[in-house]
Amino acid sequence: MALVRSGVNSLAVLEGEGKLAAHQTGNNSGVIHSGLYYKPGSLKALNCGAGREALYLFCREHGIACQACGKLVVATRQDELAALDALEIKGIANGLKGLRRLSAAELKEYEPHVAGIAGLRVAETGIVDYVKVCEKYAEIITAGGAEIQLNFRVTKVKKNSRELVLRSGSGEIRCRNLVNCAGLHSDRVARMCGVNPGLQIIPFRGEYYKLIPEKYGLVNNLIYPVPDPRFPFLGVHFTRMIAGGVEAGPNAVLAFKRQGYSKWSFSLRDAAQFAFFPGFWVMGSKFWKMGLGEFYRSFSKRAFVRALQRLVPEIQAEDLQPGGAGVRAQALETNGFLVDDFRIKEAERMVHVLNAPSPAATASISIGRSIAGIALKNFALNR
Ligand SMILES: Cc1cc2nc3c(=O)[nH]c(=O)nc-3n(C[C@H](O)[C@H](O)[C@H](O)COP(=O)(O)OP(=O)(O)OC[C@H]3O[C@@H](n4cnc5c(N)ncnc54)[C@H](O)[C@@H]3O)c2cc1C
Repeated sequence: MALVRSGVNSLAVLEGEGKLAAHQTGNNSGVIHSGLYYKPGSLKALNCGAGREALYLFCREHGIACQACGKLVVATRQDELAALDALEIKGIANGLKGLRRLSAAELKEYEPHVAGIAGLRVAETGIVDYVKVCEKYAEIITAGGAEIQLNFRVTKVKKNSRELVLRSGSGEIRCRNLVNCAGLHSDRVARMCGVNPGLQIIPFRGEYYKLIPEKYGLVNNLIYPVPDPRFPFLGVHFTRMIAGGVEAGPNAVLAFKRQGYSKWSFSLRDAAQFAFFPGFWVMGSKFWKMGLGEFYRSFSKRAFVRALQRLVPEIQAEDLQPGGAGVRAQALETNGFLVDDFRIKEAERMVHVLNAPSPAATASISIGRSIAGIALKNFALNR
């Protein structure tokens, strides 16, 4: 969309699936993140802040329902208070205006059913439906003269001095430049293009439960735990959805298939690829305990409920029904380092978006502008 808006007139968006937003974008929590969690000055912090404001504006301009409803981050144990302090400091450094430290009693002014010893209220956080946002991006792209081709899964890329030939089962497309935003397959697409991504995408499934309608009253807006700072995920939380209803989750379970939405999804190719990646075993040696806990919570509803009860003690297993799942594309380096920040790699006639996990949906307009900036600088584009 950013390229079209900058006047590029020969552009095609290639999507492997038969519809848009079939993967991360269409299976996420629908939260407009504030920018609280990210290292000041990082790409995540910069793009989340700018992207959040751009997204609120975009939704207002295009009549897409969204709400800046705010959220609570709730500490339930003394040993979480230091991490809560650290979050507050980061939030201030990232320019958040609506931060408020709350006592146990003040938490209840926002969420009467919450139990915590302290918390942070983050006013800038909101909710939206990212499928609707993505559909609007698509509308603007096609109205601007570009083309969207569904069912075009790039399986091979040939490069010569003049062009790139992108092959799929349904034909081929010749182009001068390429932007790879293939999410769970971004490392593979980079390799197809002869670019060493220097990392491996590891899929982590996030499973949700939904509150039954009679219990919607337990949650007003968004309630999050204090995240474990060693891990890139936020911990199971409650999210009010913009279309109504409340979701609980997502957990973060190692998935054995890149687009594996069920507990039993398995792909030998995907699993073998990460099993042969040295960084996977380094990560495993660091996080095996946490990983096993996530597997246990995936199979035991009781364990999932216990995690939620730390935030809202009244919640019971019968208040929850199964929801959907999403799979996160999380980049891992050879040394076992989970790449925390967004990673965009420039290559000859190409840009590869190699790590765009949460809050990349919030940040999408800002990331798009950065990519367009790189493309306009590096590519010889017709405008
Ligand atoms: C469970 C979960 C909860 C999340 N919650 C939030 C949230 O609340 N707020 C937030 O800001 N972010 C959230 N995120 C993160 C956010 O959804 C992602 O960071 C963002 O959607 C990434 O967008 P993307 O376009 O890079 O990837 P995707 O949406 O996965 O899109 C990549 C696309 O590339 C296509 N593709 C792949 N390979 C090929 C190929 N070879 N040829 C053609 N097409 C191909 C895929 O079909 C797919 O449609 C969440 C993610 C998950 C999984």
